[in-house]
Amino acid sequence: SGAEGWVELGEPAVERAEPTGPVPVVAVVGRPNVGKSTLVNRIIGRRQAVVEDTPGVTRDRVPYDAQWAGRQFVVVDTGGWEPDAKDRAAAIAAQAEIAVATADVVVFVVDATVGSTDVDEAAVRMLRRSAKPVLLVANKTDNAALEIEATSLWSLGLGEPYPVSALHGRGSGDLLDRILEALPDPPPITEPGERGPRRVALVGRPNVGKSSLLNRLAREERAVVDSVAGTTVDPVDSLVEIGGQTWQLVDTAGLRKRVSQASGTEYYASLRTAGAIEAAEVAVVLLDASEPISEQDQRIITMVAEAGRAMVIAFNKWDLMDPDRRYYLDREIDRELRRVPWAIRLNLSAKTGRAVDKLAPALRTALRSWEQRIPTGQLNQWLTALVQATPHPVRGGRAPRVLFATQAGVSPPRFVLFTTGPLDAGYQRFVERKLREEFGFEGSPVEVSVRPRK
Ligand code: GDP
Ligand code: GDP
Repeated sequence: SGAEGWVELGEPAVERAEPTGPVPVVAVVGRPNVGKSTLVNRIIGRRQAVVEDTPGVTRDRVPYDAQWAGRQFVVVDTGGWEPDAKDRAAAIAAQAEIAVATADVVVFVVDATVGSTDVDEAAVRMLRRSAKPVLLVANKTDNAALEIEATSLWSLGLGEPYPVSALHGRGSGDLLDRILEALPDPPPITEPGERGPRRVALVGRPNVGKSSLLNRLAREERAVVDSVAGTTVDPVDSLVEIGGQTWQLVDTAGLRKRVSQASGTEYYASLRTAGAIEAAEVAVVLLDASEPISEQDQRIITMVAEAGRAMVIAFNKWDLMDPDRRYYLDREIDRELRRVPWAIRLNLSAKTGRAVDKLAPALRTALRSWEQRIPTGQLNQWLTALVQATPHPVRGGRAPRVLFATQAGVSPPRFVLFTTGPLDAGYQRFVERKLREEFGFEGSPVEVSVRPRK
């Protein structure tokens, strides 16, 4: 049945994948013993994947971080399918299906010293039904003489076979170049050196003490700086040195001139708040600790969380706190701030200066969480243990499985769970909560999305 493959001759071997996320996924599939693990080791540049000599040993799908020519991607070693399984074709189909559904690019490995087998051909049929780019690797091409064998794999109809020796490294650089060409376009890179001071929004309803805090910071700290070399600062922003670091306080001109109350209706004030949050990386939401948390306070907190910004909630006027109110405040906080338990909380007083020195460390912690990246290996080690200990509950006789996860981005951290089907909202929240317990993310929102295989 290899004849069908010849129809494909002359067509472009690989199309560029549609972008599915900032960190692309490459799946390595093929029969057992063709050299998938060896190839994955070669791609990630270290001996981490387990090489099994026993055919039919099924490994877990393990993702690894890889890098080539400055490009980051994730390689998934799909393990071997059971050649002795009763319904072999079905097992192959399932394997190929998962690989195809979760990957941006599929690397299909064939043993060139054996040539194509009917198992390979069955897998090719599955792979070709998908729209994913497939790269055909003729592995174990250890020398030039064996390249003739590799050429015969044109018959599989997957375009040009790439002769590679995963064991000795022969041809692996060319293969990696081809993989990069097939990956979706990379996101634009911002150079860390180009970054100016960190941008902070100081927000809160009128009279919570924003101007007082800004004045306190400007007074206590050495100076309000006017400019930082090489950066342009919006005239409505202020540069303030807090805790030995220069920060850009977004849209604070009005505050410094004490004209905020005169600047119009609540509607315009809230537009201005939204604008400041949008322009900032981290927000300090000021609350008046001497008064109950109001709906307006809640709206501002929600704005920050929904904008995906890091957040410090500062209870100002702590000097006015009496023990009675103190007792009720803890319960009030549990109730009113339960949707943002991750926000860093500070109890301070702009008037007395209490705990104002805690602000800079809190901002630094929140930003560190906001930009935290969990290595894929570490993430999946944790996830595997979690879903083994607490699998998804069975619904109507079936339970979706979580296959693996990748971190799709930072600022804020975003995670993608690859699954066999949609997850219950409750289970997704459970995974999110456990993710925080394990990795922290104090002061930062975290997004978790699910990519069920189609
Ligand atoms: P997998 O089951 O597809 O993951 O295959 P492995 O990576 O475990 O490799 C199976 C066997 O093939 C091992 O003994 C490897 O050392 C060997 N092997 C892998 N790549 C090559 C290669 O390029 N050339 C040769 N000669 N042997 C290889
Ligand atoms: P803004 O509208 O948020 O800028 O608030 P202001 O800074 O104008 O402060 C409103 C009122 O609260 C003023 O009368 C301040 O003196 C007072 N205030 C601000 N911070 C504190 C504080 O920490 N303790 C006390 N007791 N009063 C404060």
